[in-house]
Amino acid sequence: MTTATATPSVPLFIGGQWRESASKRTGSVFNPSTGREIARVPLCTATEVDDAVKAAAAALPAWADTPAVERARLMFRYREKLEAHSEEIARLVTREHGKTLSEARASVQRGIEVVEFACGVPSLLMGQVLPNIATSVDSEAVRHPVGVCVGITPFNFPAMVPLWMFPVAIACGNTFILKPSEKVPLSAVRLGELLNECGLPPGVFNIVHGDKECVDALLTHPEVAAISFVGSTAVAKYVYETGAKHGKRVQSAGGAKNHLIVMPDADLEQAAKAIQAAAFGCAGERCMAGSVAVPVGKIAAPLVELLCERAGKMTVGATDTGASVDMGPVISREHRDRVASYLDIGKQEGATIAFDGRPAAKGDGFLIGPSVLDMVAPGMRVARDEIFGPVLSVVRAGDLEEALAIGKSSPYGNGASIFTSSGYAARQFKQYFNAGMIGINVGVPAPMAWFPFSGWNQSFFGDLHVQGLEGVQFYTRHKVTMTRWFASASESSHDPIWKTGKK
Ligand code: NAD
Repeated sequence: MTTATATPSVPLFIGGQWRESASKRTGSVFNPSTGREIARVPLCTATEVDDAVKAAAAALPAWADTPAVERARLMFRYREKLEAHSEEIARLVTREHGKTLSEARASVQRGIEVVEFACGVPSLLMGQVLPNIATSVDSEAVRHPVGVCVGITPFNFPAMVPLWMFPVAIACGNTFILKPSEKVPLSAVRLGELLNECGLPPGVFNIVHGDKECVDALLTHPEVAAISFVGSTAVAKYVYETGAKHGKRVQSAGGAKNHLIVMPDADLEQAAKAIQAAAFGCAGERCMAGSVAVPVGKIAAPLVELLCERAGKMTVGATDTGASVDMGPVISREHRDRVASYLDIGKQEGATIAFDGRPAAKGDGFLIGPSVLDMVAPGMRVARDEIFGPVLSVVRAGDLEEALAIGKSSPYGNGASIFTSSGYAARQFKQYFNAGMIGINVGVPAPMAWFPFSGWNQSFFGDLHVQGLEGVQFYTRHKVTMTRWFASASESSHDPIWKTGKK
């Protein structure tokens, strides 16, 4: 980052060089704990995007031809580097995003695990062979890189979500351009610096910054082959449609509204603890946040009481001061006001504010405490909209069928959990709930690096998700070869294996 001006400006990384953007348009990066601007981020022009794509395209042939074992070795070095700098990265995540240091540390760890997965790329890339698929014809399928790949990421996990993408793409032999969220670009820049220190050839990894103009230039560029996107549903759909229209392969993860069903036979204390963490962890700014609790039958009243008690004990404050708090600020002043407005919206719609977290917010940061809305009906906005803040809506249900129907009526399909001691209820839920990531007595069933992050419905557009084998499939394409060799007269009846002696 350059420090010549009072507020540092975030650099681009193109063709192995850090450089200042020539763009006249810039955005602010805030420390949400203090509400103060900590950096200016350039909003790149299409010309700068073109430079980045050209650099990635120029680096592609040599990188795609680099043996997978060598690409894996680079990932081993990167993994060591990230591990050595994990505390520093976590502090940067906390500084620009606002989540608590322990949440930031956990998110960096999840990201490092993707690099660990990418270290196994030689095994992951192994192909398939069937000799003699027809008489004297052998067939093989091998994986090739797809080309220049792009990653466009959201604000809520400044290090982890970029790490979902580029380590796997690069390990598979592609070159990559990262466009991090313009609200949190600093962690991404640090990830790039550390990768560069591992000896990556220039142009294999590049960073551009910006908003819609920059994203559009990436989505429509003829030399871009694949787009990975994570963000809100409206933009995810737009990115999917625009990228596909321009002939790119696209994986596009969107927003969510995740349901947590609590059966009457659940362990009440354990369920309340898990729901508190799911709803208020990372200040509710998680695509896997549990934002609708659906208690079944008579467990509803004691559950709501316990959740309010727990919410009331949570400390809310700045996360970058060394003081220990349970919850940090949200990303911006506007977002805090939007989240707060949902309590009024809920009340107007007929819900009751069982616990109001707004008064807990003191100080200059973008703070808002945890809130619980009770008596929410499934059709209300607070039951349907992604609030993306620490607001838990409680929709009471009479039985499991009703609870499942409430959850299934959501247009999203990211995650959902059930709390129960009944194997039957758990099985019904696992089998029939309309979402791609399921928790049984687990509040945030976010899959780790070895499994796909498998959102459904309006939470995902595309075919192959990030992470796990689906990630490898997304960043590679099959080439199938059929081979026939004609025997010469002297070789025509050679039989070295069976040694039958027959000619
Ligand atoms: P966002 O959609 O506003 O921004 C995401 C990215 O898209 C950013 O890089 C941004 O610069 C770019 N962008 C924004 N508006 C654009 C436009 N009109 N055209 C083109 N590009 C645009 O999302 P956000 O607020 O940064 O992140 C929060 C959202 O991300 C939530 O909805 C959350 O659920 C979702 N999310 C989903 C997952 C998942 O795996 N499904 C994971 C993390 C976050």
